[in-house]
Amino acid sequence: MSKQYIQAIQDPIFELIAKASLNLGIRSYVIGGFVRDYLLHRNVPKDIDIVAQGSGINLAKEVANLIPGHTKISVFKTFGTAMIRHQELEVEFVGARRESYSSDSRKPLVEDGSLEDDQNRRDFTINALAISLNQDDYGKLLDPFDGISDLQNQLIRTPLDPDITYSDDPLRMMRAIRFASQLNFKIEEESFQAIKRNVHRIEIISNERIVDELHKIILSEKPSQGLKLLFQTGLLSKILPELTNLQGIEEKEGQTHKDNFWHTLEVVDNIAKNTDDLWLRWAALLHDIGKAPTKRFDKKIGWTFHSHEFVGAKMVYAIFKRLRMPLNDKMKYVQKLVMMSSRPIVLAQDIVTDSAVRRLIFDAGDYIEDLMTLCEADITTKNPRRFKKYSNNFKIVRQKISEVEQRDHIRNFQPPISGEQIMETFNIKPSREIGLIKEAIKEAILEGEIPNQYDEAYEFMLKRGKKLGLTPVNNKK
Ligand code: ATP
Ligand code: MG
Repeated sequence: MSKQYIQAIQDPIFELIAKASLNLGIRSYVIGGFVRDYLLHRNVPKDIDIVAQGSGINLAKEVANLIPGHTKISVFKTFGTAMIRHQELEVEFVGARRESYSSDSRKPLVEDGSLEDDQNRRDFTINALAISLNQDDYGKLLDPFDGISDLQNQLIRTPLDPDITYSDDPLRMMRAIRFASQLNFKIEEESFQAIKRNVHRIEIISNERIVDELHKIILSEKPSQGLKLLFQTGLLSKILPELTNLQGIEEKEGQTHKDNFWHTLEVVDNIAKNTDDLWLRWAALLHDIGKAPTKRFDKKIGWTFHSHEFVGAKMVYAIFKRLRMPLNDKMKYVQKLVMMSSRPIVLAQDIVTDSAVRRLIFDAGDYIEDLMTLCEADITTKNPRRFKKYSNNFKIVRQKISEVEQRDHIRNFQPPISGEQIMETFNIKPSREIGLIKEAIKEAILEGEIPNQYDEAYEFMLKRGKKLGLTPVNNKK
């Protein structure tokens, strides 16, 4: 007995597609992510994939005709697909197809095929589920690989031999791990082993596509799930060797250091509870990468990672460049957070002075809150007493930051005295002295010698100028 899934296809768009198919005398189905997410009671996606036994492009055109008014339709002739936007929906139409692959490309040879052929080419059983939009069996679920059971058992499984599936299109290895991470599913053992065997094939996939999947893993509720799978399969050392280099604990003369790879995964999970910002999560992922190349053992002080933040920030650039990620303000943001990632910790260990807080705010600028979020996520000690101590210290730092900022307005610091004013006051041309005076004023403010105010800064400038042998000609405030 076929089950009816009419409930899934209540949106009026499905009736229109059914009608259009009838007009053209072809059969059509809704397939893939839409059906999967409906059955998982996830937010029903706004992108809908329709497969037609016939021309997907013609079907899209016919649907557009049936919608009153002008409907925008985009046709991708070379792919044999078409897309229409209707209200909030993006509906993609494709003709059912059969695919065969050659070994050097993930672009298959494509021929027209049946619905079954089309389901065979899908990556996972849970992505091959289709619901009929045809009059004779409207709402019937077509599930040749028992994807329903895999949904219930939370399993990622390929419809065909996994070795072939992953070798044909190695991006599917990333997709398997991404779905496991997003949906909290397991990768079925055969599949898992097949990914391990096919890891080298990832080389034919473009960095852009790898990064798309990586982003989705990082944005999932518990990113360590996906990252752990990337690590265990061997994919991570291909994509981000800087991270896998952090793995392991070394012992010398009875002294060990923590495993910075597993620590990093904990930090990413921690931060995921407090932010959905992709780039802040990236900063958490990369915050310790400088520790592998800077690791040293010193007989007196044990393990050190001198200036790992600085080295790490440089590595961020190299990683973004290699993976063809944007080399823009997002990259600079990640760099800056990595660079500053230890600053609040140093603060929290000591008595927190106002001037240290002013310097922190001055250096972090608008990133100060994100930096604090990162540092809080960085506390992974299993010792409850220490955990409490560090968290409390960060609370104090946060409190201080807000007090000091309210009083001194250091964030996005604008010097109270401009270079022009200095030139006018002492009647001098652009010169080294101006820079020296400006820097001295800034330092005095950060150190708390003078408040961040015009009058005090003016007096300070006069004194400072005198020391440099300058005489004010224009003593006006
Ligand atoms: P999401 O939209 O959340 O990323 P999705 O499953 O809809 O998930 P899409 O990339 O939109 O993923 O692809 C739509 C459908 O196309 C999938 O459900 C799957 O059936 C099929 N598909 C996508 N990529 C592949 C692939 N690399 N190999 C085989 N089938 C694929
Ligand atoms: Mg989709």
